[in-house]
Order: sequence, then structure tokens, then C-alpha cells
Amino acid sequence: MDRIVYVNGDYVPESEARVSVFDRGFLFADAVYEVTSVLDGKLIDFAGHARRLQRSLGELEMPAPVDEETLLQIHRELVVRNGIEDGLIYLQVTRGAADRDFAYPEDATPTLVLFTQAKPGMADSPASRKGARVISIPDIRWGRRDIKTVQLLYPSMGKMMAKKAGCDDAWMVEDGAVTEGTSNNAYIVKGRKIFTRNLSHDILHGITRAAVLRLAREAQMEVEERTFTIDEAKAADEAFTTSASAFVMPVVEIDGVQLGDGTPGPIARRLREVYLDESRKTAI
Ligand code: PMP
Repeated sequence: MDRIVYVNGDYVPESEARVSVFDRGFLFADAVYEVTSVLDGKLIDFAGHARRLQRSLGELEMPAPVDEETLLQIHRELVVRNGIEDGLIYLQVTRGAADRDFAYPEDATPTLVLFTQAKPGMADSPASRKGARVISIPDIRWGRRDIKTVQLLYPSMGKMMAKKAGCDDAWMVEDGAVTEGTSNNAYIVKGRKIFTRNLSHDILHGITRAAVLRLAREAQMEVEERTFTIDEAKAADEAFTTSASAFVMPVVEIDGVQLGDGTPGPIARRLREVYLDESRKTAI
């Protein structure tokens, strides 16, 4: 496979793409990212991802490498050049290359890299029909999880802990309450009411979360944004997660405790359907 990737203004085969060893993304994880999904060759919620990117950059006093219109053109160009029907576009902005120093350099040029990942049939994955089994792990990440940085080592460790336990993912827990999944926002359903943690510095403000909550409310479903404990989750009628890459993913087991009858719940299934329908309609 030799994809065409985007690096600082150029479209090049992946085997020729280069970033400096002095890049602060590499040395300090001084970088932010976004993942936008593609269905039928079109971008899902591009505006939301572009807005969150701006916010992440702003929080880190990092200049934007290009404007939103240019970013959209780059996304579209990569979809076309790589023939992506269904898949993901990964985007990363770093503060750029500079001699190693903890203090931010004053004159670094940001690095901008984008690449595609083809995921044929991702909207109808076997995993979503089966539902995910999750374990709980302590949330030991830093205190600004609302900034979408590339500091993903602990979430990677969490995924590995889940894998070793024969499960699919991990939910992170702080002071007894669920923060989020390793790469998704977490929800439980009790008596048809949906609960998900309120927005703060403690979790990533998911773009899929915003869309799913809006659609749930439009469908007259009851939603409450508040913290919930891992014990509440294990006693819930159903559970699910949301992310740009997996949409709405039912959760059927937490720490070995089966939820409901152990199959994806009706609310999670309905929300997945509604979200995918709406996303296809509004994709650009
Ligand atoms: N929380 C975390 C920690 C994540 O990594 C992600 C996905 N990157 C999400 C939530 C979901 O965000 P989104 O819906 O924007 O993909």
C-alpha cells in the first residue's frame, strides 16, 4: 500500500513523506489531532472537527497552519486521490520543529500532516452488531482531556489491558465516576433515560457526542448530562459509546457484568441508525 498523504503543502506517496526528528510532536507530544470519518466518499461533520481543532490550537497557543476552507480542500483531495468510499481522515498539527527546549519556540512553523485509512463497510461493522465488552481502569490522564492532544499512551495502555482481559475496550474511572472510553464518550441508559458525563476539562468534547445528543433530544428521548458511577453503569439497562470512527457502539458487558440480555440495547441501536442516516444526509 502506498497512500498519498499530505505533508506541509505537498501530496506525496507515504513512503516519501518526512517530518523532522526535531519536530515537537515527536519530542514533546506538542501536537493536536482530529479524525473525520468518510461515508460514500463524503465527510461527516467536517465543520465540527474544524471548530474543535481551532479550540485545541487556541488552548495551546499554537497557530493554525491553514484556514478552514483550505483544510476542507485538503480533506477532499485526499479522499479523491486515495479513492476512499468509507474510511477515516487523520489530521495532525504540531508546533513544528525547533532545537529541543521545554519552552515553546517563538518562530516555529507548524507541521500539518493528513492521511487516510480505508475502512470498507465501516457503517455496518460486525463489532457494532455484537456490541463491545469493556473493562474499567483508573483514569490517570492529565487534567486537560478537552484538548485533543496526541498524548495517547495511556489510552493505548488501556486498550492493551482490555485486550489482555479478552475484551474490546476500557472505560476510565475517576473518583468512582466514569470519565470516558479510551477513544470514545460513554453513556448508560436507565429506564429509557440516557446519561452521559457533562462537558468539562475532564473529557473530550466529542463531535459525535454533540450530534447524538441533539438527535436523541429531537427524537423526544430523555437525556441528562451528569457524572455516573461505574456501579451505576454495571446496573444499567444498556450502555454505549460514541466516536467519529465507530459512530454509536453498543456496550453489552462491563467488568464481566452483562447488561440486559447481553445484546445491543434498543436505544443504542436506534441512535446508531438515526446518527448514520443523518450523517449521510448532511455529509459534504
Ligand atoms: N473521548 C476520547 C478520549 C477520544 O479519543 C475520542 C475520539 N477521538 C472521543 C471521546 C470521541 O470524540 P469524537 O466523537 O469527536 O470522535
